[in-house]
Amino acid sequence: VSGVMNGRRGLVMGVANNRSIAWGIAKACRDQGAELAFTFQGEALEKRVRPLAAELDAAVVGHCDVTDPATIDHVFEEVNKLWGGLDFLVHCIAFSDKDELTGRYIDTTADNFTKSLFISCYSFTAVAQRAEKLMKPGGAMLTLTYYGAEKWMPHYNVMGVAKAALEASVRYLAADLGPKGIRVNAVSAGPIKTLAASGIGDFRYILKWNEYNSPLRRTVTIEEVGDVGMYLVSDLSRGVTGEIHHADAGYHVVGMKNPDAPDI
Ligand code: NAD
Repeated sequence: VSGVMNGRRGLVMGVANNRSIAWGIAKACRDQGAELAFTFQGEALEKRVRPLAAELDAAVVGHCDVTDPATIDHVFEEVNKLWGGLDFLVHCIAFSDKDELTGRYIDTTADNFTKSLFISCYSFTAVAQRAEKLMKPGGAMLTLTYYGAEKWMPHYNVMGVAKAALEASVRYLAADLGPKGIRVNAVSAGPIKTLAASGIGDFRYILKWNEYNSPLRRTVTIEEVGDVGMYLVSDLSRGVTGEIHHADAGYHVVGMKNPDAPDI
């Protein structure tokens, strides 16, 4: 272990298994010397998260369901007991009813709109409130977003609206916390096959489309997104805040289908 994250302590929220983007970021941070703490959502995921935490010598600070504010308070109290402070926070949490990640956005129900925006957007603000209290100047917060916030994507529907709100919240949080020397950024990751992504309609098609049409002619891995995330919570990015950093093999710069791409 050697590197730019030596002496930095971070809370990672959103590891579900070893395909999670949060896991990719955690590994990259650990490789560079960070000390980590993980949360998990519910008992079923606890069984997966504990052994993964052990691989990185990370603490497990408890169950956190962001719809239950007492569980958020609890994990931050545990972090405070463990370290008496926090240098960085990684938020990789999103949810929408699978039935609405297909078909038309216009058919979104009020109930799922509220739930998706609450879990996928407000939860970052909720955890930022707790993290602010533990952070000194040099602290950094990170969340995960997707290009569906900027442009229409098939099936992404209410998640696109939630991610747009999340990206706006990154800018507002950056402005609020900047005077305290705390930075807030997001990684906009290209599509990756994870548990959450499997809920999105036609996800295989989306992966292929990105592979054929992105400048690098491939999709990205959780290790690649992990390295970008690590940079954004490290001091290497100390002059960067409010940024939405794409880690998507360049897909977001493309305006038209690659004419040489095979049919999918
Ligand atoms: P994942 O399924 O591995 O992680 C999603 C996590 O959200 C899980 O750990 C789950 O427990 C957590 N979560 C959901 N509801 C929660 C709640 N109420 N309380 C606490 N935790 C809750 O999938 P992932 O793809 O690694 O997702 C991580 C983040 O990356 C999400 O914000 C997702 O939108 C974003 N993202 C994913 C992709 C992709 O293609 N996979 C692309 C861009 C952005």
